[in-house]
Amino acid sequence: MTFHIITIFPNLFESYLSDSIMKRAIIRKDISVKFYNPRDFTKSKHNKVDDIPYGGGPGMVMMADPIIAAWKKARGVKRRAVAQVKGEKKNYKTVILSPGGKEFTTAYAKQSAKKYTDIIIICGRYEGIDARVKKFLGRQADEVSIGNYVLTGGELAAMVMIDSISRQIPGVLGNASSLEESRVSSHEVYTRPEVLEETGKKYRVPPVLLSGNHKLIDEWRKDR
Ligand code: SAM
Repeated sequence: MTFHIITIFPNLFESYLSDSIMKRAIIRKDISVKFYNPRDFTKSKHNKVDDIPYGGGPGMVMMADPIIAAWKKARGVKRRAVAQVKGEKKNYKTVILSPGGKEFTTAYAKQSAKKYTDIIIICGRYEGIDARVKKFLGRQADEVSIGNYVLTGGELAAMVMIDSISRQIPGVLGNASSLEESRVSSHEVYTRPEVLEETGKKYRVPPVLLSGNHKLIDEWRKDR
């Protein structure tokens, strides 16, 4: 899977991608992450990527031109591509990050990992992205939100998507059995010690987890 990230702040991704599971996935070539900075695609002298909103209001709006040019570079086309270019082996999806988009879920992550070879993620900033980017991309782009709150930019949301989609790619988690969705799992998990003593109180592991009875353990986990 190749993630193509359109962002004016590519450095924000560095620490997350250079450690732990994401680092290993990149080294193993299970995933790769490429960056396209709209500033490198501006026509203006001062590499302007934002401007004041038509109709007035606070904040700045990200200009459509540099984003569309960055998208064309990521997509490897000179004009708007149809969802699938004839004879092309790759399968692309574009995501425009927006707090008003459809909710990102594990089901979306699973389907994306299965269906696409390349995902282009457009990160907004300021008051958002000129709506004509969405109009230009049409059906090949989804507007996606990672939750019902507003972030200052799309970069964190893009990292959430990279992480969640990557862990659906075979090999990324190392051991397939650690993929929670493929077995009975619960949000409530325990490890040693069996009894945790903290400020005069004892916190015990639920006895069922120590029983060795996997049928009962699965039932207990389903209820959590
Ligand atoms: N006024 C804009 C709106 O309501 O759509 C808010 C823009 S927000 C401050 C700037 C950018 O952050 C957005 O363009 C989007 O790319 C990203 N963003 C913010 N919250 C997000 C969320 N919950 N999910 C995905 N992206 C988000």
